[in-house]
Amino acid sequence: MTAHGRSIAGRALHPESLMMGYGYDPARSEGAIKSPIFQTSTFVFESAEAGKSFFELAYGLREPNEGEIPGLIYSRLNNPDLEILEDRLCLWDGAESCATFASGMAAVTTSLLASVRPGDVVLYSAPIYGGSDHFVRHVLPTFGVEGIAFAAGVPLVGTARDAIHSAVRGRRVGAILVETPANPTNALVDIADVAALARELEVDGHRPLVMVDNTFLGPVFQHPLQHGADIVLYSATKFIGGHSDVIAGAALGSREAMAPIRGLRTFLGTMASPWSGWLLMRSLETLKLRMTAAAINAGEVARFLAAHPKVARVYWLGLMPEDDPMRPVYDRQCSGPGSLVAFDVRGGEAEAFRFLNALQLIRLAVSLGGTESLAEHPGTMTHADVSPAEQARFGMTPALVRLSIGIEEIGDLLADLGQALDAV
Ligand code: PLP
Repeated sequence: MTAHGRSIAGRALHPESLMMGYGYDPARSEGAIKSPIFQTSTFVFESAEAGKSFFELAYGLREPNEGEIPGLIYSRLNNPDLEILEDRLCLWDGAESCATFASGMAAVTTSLLASVRPGDVVLYSAPIYGGSDHFVRHVLPTFGVEGIAFAAGVPLVGTARDAIHSAVRGRRVGAILVETPANPTNALVDIADVAALARELEVDGHRPLVMVDNTFLGPVFQHPLQHGADIVLYSATKFIGGHSDVIAGAALGSREAMAPIRGLRTFLGTMASPWSGWLLMRSLETLKLRMTAAAINAGEVARFLAAHPKVARVYWLGLMPEDDPMRPVYDRQCSGPGSLVAFDVRGGEAEAFRFLNALQLIRLAVSLGGTESLAEHPGTMTHADVSPAEQARFGMTPALVRLSIGIEEIGDLLADLGQALDAV
């Protein structure tokens, strides 16, 4: 028995075929079909020379010899469950390197901190997940880094692009953080165009890294590295975990782009645990099935809501009109609409709350991407820290409800939504 390869008779295997065994050799674990949980803090070295050699590689004191695999040292640096998981995550995004984290926020913050220094600017698309928004607007400034927002959902041309250049004023831009589709409105950002913007913002040989939070559509329906992103970020708590029972994150990219992020993870100690790694490997086996089924359900839900008299507007990528200026971006960048459906109830916060309080099958909870459907009110929950003026600027109304559609039977979901709307 050997670890699975990536091809059979010249045929490259698809990620969904490789999630069950890739990167794991049963012969090294008593023949166990699944990787055990390596619940250990440290690893015994066969000799002092082996320990010395492992540390030389870990600290980059020398390049690995031909075929040399870095040895296991300590679970803050590496662990079999995390290494196998990281190899598997690389397959979906076509990445060379992956680092998994204790949470999506740990992935976002460690990646940003690895790329900025005092005096820098970080550009970010808005709206963006409330935690990322808080970090960029309230934490990075304490390190002398200014966050400058640009609106998702509109092409970055003409005055919008000029406004970015004039706000940056020739300063060094450490990173451009993009969330597309944006949480909670599903507004898109053109990743290839942001990569072009990054090239325009090169100063003294430094080009900003383009980081894309791919939590909403990835890793099945969007692959940012193919469109010019340097780093892909995930809250693996969401679709990758998929069962609302683990908090984790991931960052992926080329070996070169990932080296500082991986290095900082070691010193901040923001890595995932072996148990989380094992849970995520379990989840990756059904990733494509779950995301595909949830997106089909979401389509039914979005069409039901769009036809309902108590719904003012539906935000779901599958309903984007042909003449929307961002439609070419959707066609080029995304291979599916995903299962996040936001909508404005007719009325305001009071009507949105009445709807949320009346739900019976769909749970009122933040988070998304699980097998169960969830509903929340972004304006007062996930994005409570974003001022009402900023919320309005980036298209969030007090009547906005966000649904994460799961894999329940579709008739049951529509019955619950219908009776909750009746209560409004
Ligand atoms: N990015 C997005 C788009 C999210 O929705 C979230 C959480 O909701 C995060 C990042 C943060 O992830 P975590 O909660 O795993 O830290």
